[in-house]
Amino acid sequence: MKKVDMTVKAPHFYTMEGEGVGYKAETAMVVDGGKIIDFLDWETCEELYQAEEALRLSHHVILPGFIDGHMHTACNVMRGLAQDTNNWMMYGLQPFDNAVTNAERDAGSEVAIIEAIKAGTTTLGDYDAEMNNVCRFIQKIGARGNIAQTIRAAKRRVYKPGELYELDDAQGEQELARNVELFDRWHRKGDGRIRILFGPQGIDFVSPQLLLKVQKIAKERGTKIHMHVQQGDRETYQIEKRYGKRTTKFLDDLGYLDSSLITVHLTECDDEETRLIAKSGASMVVNPASIGIIDGLVCPSTVFQEAGGSVALGSDQAPGNNCHNIIHEMKNICMFNKLKYHDPEKMPAWKALRMATIEGAKAIGVDDAVGSLEVGKQADFIAVDLNFPSMLPVYTYPMRNIVPNLVYSARGQEVALSAVNGKVIMRDQKILTIDEDVSLKRIQQYPELIGNRASKEFFEIHGTNAQFMEEDKL
Ligand SMILES: [Zn+2]
Repeated sequence: MKKVDMTVKAPHFYTMEGEGVGYKAETAMVVDGGKIIDFLDWETCEELYQAEEALRLSHHVILPGFIDGHMHTACNVMRGLAQDTNNWMMYGLQPFDNAVTNAERDAGSEVAIIEAIKAGTTTLGDYDAEMNNVCRFIQKIGARGNIAQTIRAAKRRVYKPGELYELDDAQGEQELARNVELFDRWHRKGDGRIRILFGPQGIDFVSPQLLLKVQKIAKERGTKIHMHVQQGDRETYQIEKRYGKRTTKFLDDLGYLDSSLITVHLTECDDEETRLIAKSGASMVVNPASIGIIDGLVCPSTVFQEAGGSVALGSDQAPGNNCHNIIHEMKNICMFNKLKYHDPEKMPAWKALRMATIEGAKAIGVDDAVGSLEVGKQADFIAVDLNFPSMLPVYTYPMRNIVPNLVYSARGQEVALSAVNGKVIMRDQKILTIDEDVSLKRIQQYPELIGNRASKEFFEIHGTNAQFMEEDKL
């Protein structure tokens, strides 16, 4: 008998191997040294392996942990403060964004990360201006992080409509240097769970020279660039005015479209531009709820996929989504595309599940380690409890209804267990590696302080949400 760290026995496995969902019935998965080393039937598992931790999950389905490709967890300290408005950035977010401190943002990140893990996310694609404390928290909580730090040369001040951003090369260089520092400090740390990417905020915020420098540095270090691309008419305007062409053409001419680039949103891309990016080998992160709420748009992820590109799902940010829950995003991507194309066969549930797992892992460059349950990969997996009202009844013949119910009916609380690198980090909706209450209490200290600091600008701007307050609608 071989001694191993863990065996996982369950009636249903969705391994995501192959082109579908890789279904296996009544299987045991064997984990040792953080990796998956075997799959076999229950009886043979009993004969061959003696496990330190034997998980018997008798009414559960086992899946790879979900991938959230694009998050701004720090914005969570402003959850629910900017939705349902035109000009989200200026009229919704700005009064609050100008009022929060780094410590308050860190508190927001902790709660967002806890929320995401409880809904089955194990890989967090976080992206913001200051990421050291996020890396520290992810390391402690035991999750996997794919972290980019914002690089921006455009001066941080208010710009009038139509005004070109003022680029400050010294500021851009400084922010790139900080991203390099973050890479040197954190890349492959935490038993390899943390990876650092490079994060120009968008091509409207940096010069072409700086973009090329970032590309060179990222390639030398064998990592990727994570960047908002063609994310709104504001960006298109800036780029056309500065260079006389649209974003995609500009990036193509610059030699920026290749497999080292993860493009986020593509909100303003037409189908031809979308196909060009997909065929270049670059990948995409689509954030259905966030862009739906902020812009009232559905981004062209199905065109990207049809052209052969990999697409990950992202939850983006909590002041305009307003949650970090990949199960919700799976439902949203299916619903929005069915509505967009007036076609119920567009974006079936199984495809959304692939985006949340193996396709998402490919898109953000972590499929060598995670995204599917296969021998040799890291053991990042979740167990979903089928004894929940939202998952019942369970059919296995003549068809299985587990995937449709997971995508269209589950809400997150059905995730009973979550493991990363073969270590259980969440059980029965309780995170085992940290004291959640500390983070939950901490964030609640801040709304009054932030609210008071933001109130003057909030009332001066007098946006939709200020009006809703006056009209007893909030
Ligand atoms: Zn973003």
